[in-house]
Amino acid sequence: MSGYVSSIKPLSLPPSVPSNSRVLMLFGQLEKLNRESMLVDPEIARQITAKILHLIQTQEKTRKEIVSKGSSGMEVILATLEVSSRGGRRIGVFVSKGGTGILLQLVISASKESPPSEEVMLQLHSVLAKVGPKDRKFGVKARLNGALNVTVNLLKQNLQNYKLLLPCLLVLQVCLPSAVNAVSLGKNGVVELMFKIIGPYSKKNTSLLKVSLDTLGALLKSKTNAQRAVVHVPILLHIYQDWHRNDTRHRHILIRKGILGCLKNITNIKLGRKAFIDADGMRILYNTSTECLPVRTLDPLINTSSLIMRKCFPKNRLPLPTIKSVFHHQLLRVPAGGPVAQLYNQPLGMDDVVDESDNNEDAEAENDMENEVEEKDHHAGNDDIETDINKLRPKETHSRPFEELKIYERFFMELSEDFQVMQYTFWFNNTPKSHRPIVVPTAQALPPKNPTAAPLQGECPHPAPVPALDLDTINITKDQDGCGDHTHSRPHPGAGLEQELPPILAGGVAARLGGEGEEMLAEDWAEEEESSEEGVLHVPDTALLLPLHDPDLYVEMVKSTSSVPQFSEVAYPDYFGHVAPTSREHILERVYGVQRTKIFQDIERLIHPNDILDKVVYDLDIQSCPVVDGGESLKFNSQFESGNLRKAVQIRKFEYDLVLNSDINSNHYHQWFYFEVSGMRVGAPYRFNIINCEKSNSQFNYGMQVLMYSVQEAISGRPRWVRTGTDICYYKNHFSRSSIAAGGQKGKSYYTMTFSMTFNHKDDVCYFAYHYPYTYSTLKMHLQKLEALRTPQTYLREDILCETLGGNSCPLLTITAMPESTSNDQICQFRNRPLVFLSSRVHPGETNASWVMKGTLEFLMGSSPLAHSLREAYIFKIVPMLNPDGVVNGNHRCSLSGEDLNRQWQNPSPELHPTIYHTKSLLQYLAAIQRAPLVFCDYHGHSRKKNVFMYGCSLKETVWETNISATSCELHEDLGYRTLPKILSQMAPAFSMASCSFVVERSKEATARVVVWREIGVQRSYTMESTLCGCDQGKYKGLQIGTRELEEMGAQFCVALLRLKRLTSPLKLRNHAHLLDVESDLTETRCKGSSTPSTYLLEDEEASFMEEVDYSAESGDEPDNDPNTADPHDNHLSDSESNNHRDSLT
Ligand SMILES: [Zn+2]
Repeated sequence: MSGYVSSIKPLSLPPSVPSNSRVLMLFGQLEKLNRESMLVDPEIARQITAKILHLIQTQEKTRKEIVSKGSSGMEVILATLEVSSRGGRRIGVFVSKGGTGILLQLVISASKESPPSEEVMLQLHSVLAKVGPKDRKFGVKARLNGALNVTVNLLKQNLQNYKLLLPCLLVLQVCLPSAVNAVSLGKNGVVELMFKIIGPYSKKNTSLLKVSLDTLGALLKSKTNAQRAVVHVPILLHIYQDWHRNDTRHRHILIRKGILGCLKNITNIKLGRKAFIDADGMRILYNTSTECLPVRTLDPLINTSSLIMRKCFPKNRLPLPTIKSVFHHQLLRVPAGGPVAQLYNQPLGMDDVVDESDNNEDAEAENDMENEVEEKDHHAGNDDIETDINKLRPKETHSRPFEELKIYERFFMELSEDFQVMQYTFWFNNTPKSHRPIVVPTAQALPPKNPTAAPLQGECPHPAPVPALDLDTINITKDQDGCGDHTHSRPHPGAGLEQELPPILAGGVAARLGGEGEEMLAEDWAEEEESSEEGVLHVPDTALLLPLHDPDLYVEMVKSTSSVPQFSEVAYPDYFGHVAPTSREHILERVYGVQRTKIFQDIERLIHPNDILDKVVYDLDIQSCPVVDGGESLKFNSQFESGNLRKAVQIRKFEYDLVLNSDINSNHYHQWFYFEVSGMRVGAPYRFNIINCEKSNSQFNYGMQVLMYSVQEAISGRPRWVRTGTDICYYKNHFSRSSIAAGGQKGKSYYTMTFSMTFNHKDDVCYFAYHYPYTYSTLKMHLQKLEALRTPQTYLREDILCETLGGNSCPLLTITAMPESTSNDQICQFRNRPLVFLSSRVHPGETNASWVMKGTLEFLMGSSPLAHSLREAYIFKIVPMLNPDGVVNGNHRCSLSGEDLNRQWQNPSPELHPTIYHTKSLLQYLAAIQRAPLVFCDYHGHSRKKNVFMYGCSLKETVWETNISATSCELHEDLGYRTLPKILSQMAPAFSMASCSFVVERSKEATARVVVWREIGVQRSYTMESTLCGCDQGKYKGLQIGTRELEEMGAQFCVALLRLKRLTSPLKLRNHAHLLDVESDLTETRCKGSSTPSTYLLEDEEASFMEEVDYSAESGDEPDNDPNTADPHDNHLSDSESNNHRDSLT
């Protein structure tokens, strides 16, 4: 094009032109301007072009004059353009001064000649194709003045005239971004016309073919046009194959991509996908893509093919009878509204796994296209920030009368203790432990202590739970010879292992040793146990490394833990304990093309159905689970505390699809997992796919690995969870998610988390988990061991705050220092210590929160001088596990009421949310007696961000974010809420101040942090979030987080409190202004661009991958926008796309 234009030289007016022609005079002026190109005054150019345009519009004679043979009018225009294009912005000047208008008028004029001059049309279209893109309104202008129709007619009449077709097609392309034009052209038969131009494979006229394909692709973005093209899908596939076969030197990648572009748009509609499948499109694109794989330059073809195949992949049904949790807990009172009520009211026999009809699919296709464009701006708004200033101010009225709160007095004995001699001794030696659960006026309505699992009303009874093994018969012997080895008798090979081993092991190693591997086993053991007697199974001695762990005590604790499935087994990792490995575990670097490879393997299921085994090897929904299998399959199990595997299906020899159970009394929340695998082959490349994940992205895409625990490693002296797995990725899959499970949205899919793994040991039993498990029984064990650490100087009291719905008790700890003496002064100091209130693990899937809490508790109970000072400085009230039932039953997010407990703080129900109700009551009691805590902090885990950080509450910072600047200057707020996070950022390596936020969001108004801030009046009310993945700053940059780092964080939190104490003492107040310099913090943060101080902006601020990763084959859905799946303290930006928002708000 440009070559064509620039070949024209500026011409003088031909001598034959009569000098009285006005238009030619104007052209003369225009030409003169061209010669003085550098000095053109745009205003003069505008005046001239406006005059020319006016003449053309009003005088037929003038039009003829310009386009007639021998006139140089056209040439002057072209010359103007030519000069303009050299002058850079000048095309823009010409365009904006009405140049396109002149040209379009000329097209109309030229079309009135009969026959129209081919040469003129060619020239005009060439110029239009060049000028058009500079004029945003070009498409609309061309349609309105009729030039678009002229072009279409010209195309229709010149199908063989390649020279003319090319510029005409280019003009169409310029007009196509307008949806109205696309539809109108479609009506005018242009889609069919394109298919006439796009012939079979030929290396002639490749540039025309390319332009035709691009034009067609643009036309097909319209749904109605796509419908017109459905019949041509086989042709497009055929041409694509031809090009694939013949373009061996890959010189025509753009043509091949153009064909795929057309297919991609046609398959946006349901009919198109059907046509694609019927035409064997899956196989064709699969085969061609596989052949393209070795050539990196063909990646765009593979990626587009993969996108089309994923879109067309028939949606499968999740292999389940219902998505409701396998286990049910009958609630005595069902919450009036919301998801749980919905679940209970679900009609009998209703299929909740897939939607009945998929009529919405086409609407979905339309949405896809919108999403493609609008996706990036999706979250630019900040509509989650609380803007109602009244909701940001302290709640004035205390809703509960003091009389009602008075019963909580007994949890605060330390506030009234007078340590009289008798009692003092008593306290000294026997810090009492109250096991009476609190009884409140509403307690009559509390469920019985040990409710049995019962099916939901009006529903087929689900299979009876596995009968509980009698835990009392567990008899694990420890040898007493002083070497500390815990040993078990190992029976002779071939003997009935289940009978001889303690029952607790029957579901673990023992059950598996009875299989085909028996004879080899004997040799293995003989090798391993060189010096020991035959038949002794060593249990790792972790006593020295793990002072808080004791296997026997753990089993004791398990016996008093109530689970809905009535778990009778103990997982080995929980039994043996975990010693953090000393080696560094780096954040995994993502290998190029992983996702693509995995998706292609998924597509192969469809292409080669005969290779698929589809063999169920574990299924909690059937009576006989676990499925017994003597063959080549892995064995799965997760019927132990916190376990939640529902089903395992062997797909290929070494590949398994795994389905997670929903939270109890819910039909979703799948993220946490914990299960056992055995029967593996050493060195075989296993692939595991968890196929019913729900979040739209995951840290598994950013270097996080799964955790694995090998029993063989443990008994060889390395009892530990290790980060493991390769080829890890997380992507949208082809299992459809019913609207019931997707918050009412239709056409959604689940996500797959996949990882590969080779096992190192024969006859091993391995466990996989989302994060380091920490069970309720583990907590109870740790608490008992901690109590043993107590020195006479330590005041430790363990109360039972309440019973949970599942019949487990919720411990409340009080830790402080004993008074130095019973003198009045000392007692006074003791009673008047400020309170620090900590809680953790309201969300069962966030096990990291428990490890941080463990670090805190161990530090607080420790013997260091710092710990002692800390105890002297504060009274600690700690609820270490706010949701024991959720933890026990392997839930990810909810309690047995099927609700997120961290959304109940505004109005907790004593019957449905007892732990929240009573914890809040404790705080209300404290507020009522003017002893509200100095610090409240609820420990959480964050699934999508790195580092450890805090969310706090600030009226002023919230108002800043909402840009209501008028009111913000009148607000006065103590900046003390920033001190603690600032201290932490200076001393805790994993902690990142830049990730902290103090903005109050609407979606968080019922969380502990916001309610304690607003209703209890605690200025320093926080959520502390620990990453599940790792750190991207500080000492641990590039490393995945482990229990050592998490525990360290918990300890550092304590040290920070001590520093806070010093800073907040009246004498020191003036010296820590630097810690409170909010504005410089904010500026620093914003300048760095690493993040901004608001939670909803911080989500998933991950750089994009080098591999173009597409999670959502069809639509950019954001499940977090739907209230059912919203992650309360996670925030609401979804994925990798979020970089823009930062820019838009900073
Ligand atoms: Zn949480």
